Amino acid sequence: MGVRFIQHPISNIQHPLLGFTASEHLVVSLYLDVDGSRFPRKGDYEAEFSFMLHEARRTASESLNLNKAQLEQLDVDLQAVSEFLSLEFRREGARGLVMFSCRAEELWRVVPLKVPVKNCLLVDWKPHLAQLAQTLSRHRRFCVLLASKETARLLEQFAGEITENSEIFDTVLKHHSQGGWEQAKLQRRHQLQVRNHLKKASDAALNFFQAKSLDALAVGIAEDLWPDLDKILHPYLKDCLAGRFNLDISADTNEIRNKVDAIETEIGAREQEALLASLGPELAAGRSYVGGLDDVLAALNERRVEILIVENGYSEPGRRCLACGTIEYGEESCPSCQEAMQPVGDIVEEAKELAVRQDSAIMEVPTGHPSMAQAGKIAAKLRY
Ligand SMILES: [Zn+2]
Repeated sequence: MGVRFIQHPISNIQHPLLGFTASEHLVVSLYLDVDGSRFPRKGDYEAEFSFMLHEARRTASESLNLNKAQLEQLDVDLQAVSEFLSLEFRREGARGLVMFSCRAEELWRVVPLKVPVKNCLLVDWKPHLAQLAQTLSRHRRFCVLLASKETARLLEQFAGEITENSEIFDTVLKHHSQGGWEQAKLQRRHQLQVRNHLKKASDAALNFFQAKSLDALAVGIAEDLWPDLDKILHPYLKDCLAGRFNLDISADTNEIRNKVDAIETEIGAREQEALLASLGPELAAGRSYVGGLDDVLAALNERRVEILIVENGYSEPGRRCLACGTIEYGEESCPSCQEAMQPVGDIVEEAKELAVRQDSAIMEVPTGHPSMAQAGKIAAKLRY
């Protein structure tokens, strides 16, 4: 499978939120780590939330210039989120919880995730979607095919969520050991039956893959059986084969998920490495990439960004225009509509939000890569 970025989960899942702009009312965006291994008791993550709640309220009232009605409105939303957490929310295996609330505009979204999120509670004039989009776009929709000589299983996996689809059983004659002519005939019949069974499993996988519009295939099969499946696997599926592992056909879904996660992590690392390796030379040649805050913000304002690449933890203050959405590093008045620009604590966060709204992929990379030092901690691959 080549290097490509799967972007559609963002627009598919969060489509109504992408277009949401509340001009007069504030939106509360919550990302809460509710992972049971770190927070065994409900009270543990509730304590984190309540700390963030007070911080967010204080920051909003200080920096957003709110009037009394707006502050009251904000308290309604914070209260609603808080009550939902303590009275209604059940983890049921969720590791991350994402919520958006703007009661005045009838916005209320609860998105439990089987993958972790980084704690933050943001109050702003729009929902903050970048972390959710990044989290989802890191994952592909996997078709998982497990096959043995007599049985096959099909599963779907996306963002830590795994569901069993169907099981294909075949009665394959056991291989006898009398020897002689009879033995050779039985062995041939046995091989034929195994091949037919694998063909049936491969056809079922192809149907499942296409019906569900999945992105990638992972195959769990014994080493000695793989060459037989490899021979008859449909070319379309072969093209989408992301990885293979050896696991017993009766493995439980947790074991399967771990194997698929490992494949996905490896693909992600390879993609990131390939992107960073091409970034340096492309920047030097002045082709299809820009680097540095000023140029990246300009490309975002022109909606030309395909992939936004940001070093982990990079943050800068800046300015934004609430009238037209333009973001800038230092301008006092908006270069496109001449309205006064408002200061924002972190323009890099604003850049990510703008990127999500133009369907760009966002990639956060570890600090210290020479290409990112050359770019100035932030870069963008351009659409044209
Ligand atoms: Zn403007």
